[in-house]
Amino acid sequence: MKDNPVNIKNSQTFCAAPWVNLTVSIGGNMSPCCEISGEFGNTKHQPIKDLWNGGLFLKLREAFISGNKPKACWKCYEVDACGGKSMRQQYNEKFNNHIELISPLKHTAPLPISLDIRFSNICNFSCRMCWHGSSSHWYQDAKALRLTNSKTALIKSFSTKDNGVKEISALLPGVKYLYWAGGEPLITREHYAILEDLIAKHSTDIYLKYNTNFSKLTYDHGDIFKLWEQFKNIELVISIDGIKDRGELIRHGFSWDIFLSNLKLIKQKCPHIKIKFGITVSVFNVFVLDELHQNLLDLEVCHEDDFEIHCLQEPNFYRVNILPKKLKEEVTVKLKDYINTLKDSPGRNHASVVSQLGHVIVFLKAKGDFGARYRFSYLTLKLDARRNQNTSAVCPELKSFIYGAFKLNLILNIIYFWAKKFKSRMISFSYALKKKGGD
Ligand code: SF4
Repeated sequence: MKDNPVNIKNSQTFCAAPWVNLTVSIGGNMSPCCEISGEFGNTKHQPIKDLWNGGLFLKLREAFISGNKPKACWKCYEVDACGGKSMRQQYNEKFNNHIELISPLKHTAPLPISLDIRFSNICNFSCRMCWHGSSSHWYQDAKALRLTNSKTALIKSFSTKDNGVKEISALLPGVKYLYWAGGEPLITREHYAILEDLIAKHSTDIYLKYNTNFSKLTYDHGDIFKLWEQFKNIELVISIDGIKDRGELIRHGFSWDIFLSNLKLIKQKCPHIKIKFGITVSVFNVFVLDELHQNLLDLEVCHEDDFEIHCLQEPNFYRVNILPKKLKEEVTVKLKDYINTLKDSPGRNHASVVSQLGHVIVFLKAKGDFGARYRFSYLTLKLDARRNQNTSAVCPELKSFIYGAFKLNLILNIIYFWAKKFKSRMISFSYALKKKGGD
């Protein structure tokens, strides 16, 4: 072990996640977090308790004990390298006070104390950077664009609804943190069943954290506030990537007006809930991060540090580093100016946002995949046509990039077509010459 287990918080390689957290992704794949690549076993084929201390979890723990950086964790190490706060760092920080679970550094671990369970892909939004695997609302577009082979819009993670709720309920007595993401948790039936189960068992001390699109606050049997008011510790990270029409273009289904009225409602009904804003930085909003941040601050519903700003890593064709050099330079200047403004704000401490925006600048500098530019422009134009939207009008800074990448690809395709045709002509010609010589 290269890292001192007691110093996990400062380790460059170690991650506490496989000792403390269990994630069930949409479709049933189990893993120690939602960032890792690869399959660790599926809830539809094996009980959770068997998988938790099964082969792949043991291998991963072994890798961290040995001071290695597992390849499957590339997303975290990429964020680390850009100076950002990776999920690995967040786990290490959050669970540093549960060192007794990690410190023995055994390959096996007691049952998880933190759960991130995604029961299905049910969602009422189809955000540009999302996909059918994470949103049932994406299904029709994904079908039309041949991006899915699935026969159903809904993808479930357990063989039946009851199986899932039962298996998760059995784990709850030892669980301290419950993280809800989606799909959209606030329209997920099982989410309500689990909250009711916790209330029935008087386990309302548990820490509930949500990543939500915050559009639906009522479901079947009433509004969510009646359940939330019984839990002491709730944190909502509300996903928002742009104000007004830009927000509505990026997160298809989002309404700026509903967002504002829901914020008012939550402040009235559940003022004890901690509100944060989660911003996913992509090509669509990197130019207006300053405007977005200012607008959200002006709503006065959160503390100035309560922003989770992260750069989109997948799909690669919406990452900010695919932008051409000129646009990268322009946006870098804009971000640096904004960082200086924040640093100079009297009486306010924007240290966290300043650091996160600094990370965006580093991320921008990285070399982007050239082929991803065409994919970006192709899908943008296709989705615009299907959704009756106009990205160039809403995000004017992208107009020449969208059409430029499209034209360049068209030219390359024409060259490729003629080169192929020329090659096949040459082959036929040399074959004819050979034949003639033979005659
Ligand atoms: S390093 Fe990152 S990807 Fe790997 S287990 Fe930890 S949180 Fe997950």
